[in-house]
Amino acid sequence: MRVLFIYPNLNAQIGFNYGISYISGILKAEGIETHLLNVNEQVGYPLDLERIKKDVLRINPDFIGFSVLTTQCKYALEIARNIKTYLDVPIIFGGIHPTMDPRGVLAEPVVDYICVGEGEDAFLELVRKGDPAGIRNIGYKRNGSIIVAPMRPFKEIANMPFKDYEIFDFQQIIDAKDGWVGLTASRGCPFRCTYCLNHKIMALYKDDGHLPRTYLRRHTVDEVIGEIEYLLSRYTGIRMFIFDDDIFTFDKEWLHDFSARYRAVTKIGFVCNAHARVFDREMARDLKEAGCRIVKFGLESGSNRIRRDVLNRYMTNDHIAEAFFIAHGFGLHTSAFVMVGLPYETEEDMMETVKLLARIKPGRFRWTLFFPFIGTKAYDIAEKAGMIDFDRMSGLDNFTDETCMILGEDANLFAEKLKTMFCLFVNGYGNADGKGKYLSLAKRVKALTKSEWEREKESIASELHVLDREMELNGMPYYCVKYNPFMGVRSDWTDDSLSA
Ligand code: SF4
Repeated sequence: MRVLFIYPNLNAQIGFNYGISYISGILKAEGIETHLLNVNEQVGYPLDLERIKKDVLRINPDFIGFSVLTTQCKYALEIARNIKTYLDVPIIFGGIHPTMDPRGVLAEPVVDYICVGEGEDAFLELVRKGDPAGIRNIGYKRNGSIIVAPMRPFKEIANMPFKDYEIFDFQQIIDAKDGWVGLTASRGCPFRCTYCLNHKIMALYKDDGHLPRTYLRRHTVDEVIGEIEYLLSRYTGIRMFIFDDDIFTFDKEWLHDFSARYRAVTKIGFVCNAHARVFDREMARDLKEAGCRIVKFGLESGSNRIRRDVLNRYMTNDHIAEAFFIAHGFGLHTSAFVMVGLPYETEEDMMETVKLLARIKPGRFRWTLFFPFIGTKAYDIAEKAGMIDFDRMSGLDNFTDETCMILGEDANLFAEKLKTMFCLFVNGYGNADGKGKYLSLAKRVKALTKSEWEREKESIASELHVLDREMELNGMPYYCVKYNPFMGVRSDWTDDSLSA
């Protein structure tokens, strides 16, 4: 039995796919041969249907499984349609997009089966039986009808077979990512933010009788430490671990145990996600002592109204400020994540986000334009309000180029300005220069009409550059775009090992 995974990841950062690596690990443990086509320009594998054809025919698989993100679905379908012209094997779509829109994906003639939710056991069962009927988490078509089977309980992740790192050229990924290596120590999140897939996943399992609280699961500390030791012994050039868990710091006891074990194994730093509503001094101390280099918090918006009414995030700006105060008190470098272009967001709401960043003074902040993922409540909110430009949406590969939201002329224009000049605004409203030069430039930018902005944005960028230079010469800290075009980093941060 031979399974081929195809991971379309075009016009996107080079990536490692946890789902494929977990499933491949389980299949291999059962003696099933697995292969991967990692279709991403940065690994030297662009979308080239002839090349894919040669590789598919060489591997000659019995099953083909695509891991599909919403923005990559069009590429997955293009590849799948082409494969069907020369090879007649079942094609399965799994991953986030089929989970969020199972029936929409199955309606595509080229998709034989889908896997909804976590796929390890379902995929193995399907590959073994060959017939999808009665297999939980699997969807298929029969006599013109779409059938999506109920979900099985959440899989206990402790003591699972090891992830299959080898199926990717993992050394190439480490090198391309400048030594940063992603890991997960847990699965699930107890919160239900409207823009995130977690509420949908919980609802899917709950509808089939599984308790939402069983969603949050954790690997044992032994497993995580064992995986780190394995990676360090097998690959070179690792400079940083990134824990991609939704909330790494949730279990205090686990974190305390992990902290002691981690620092005994390696001096390499790590990055993790925390939640402003559940962050305290003990967590900050454990993170610091373990060697945490960046602790990241999702803020999304500085507007209490948008956070509460649109995003379903129940925390105040004071909670957020307190979490950053605690983290800074322990010498942790902090990262704040925000979005602009949210449903019902006005220019004033976006200014609240600017002002919150200026108040909490994170080590860095990262911004993106909101994208309404199908299947989420935020999508429903935006769709119901007629706020989605579907034509523009279908052309987007990422969340940084432009917004597909229709928020009104002023809000859309301000989102566009922030996209390129977020640092200017945070510097201005944080009084970075003390003389108000950033603030007056920010106010000028804010007042520009669309045509003025188009005409003047390059000269404003030059003015901003001069201001930044002045700050640098005077040894005064400010936020500048660094490492990627959507990240503002404090200029006095000189440790370039923290580049992601
Ligand atoms: S806290 Fe983060 S991971 Fe959890 S539901 Fe909200 S956005 Fe998703």
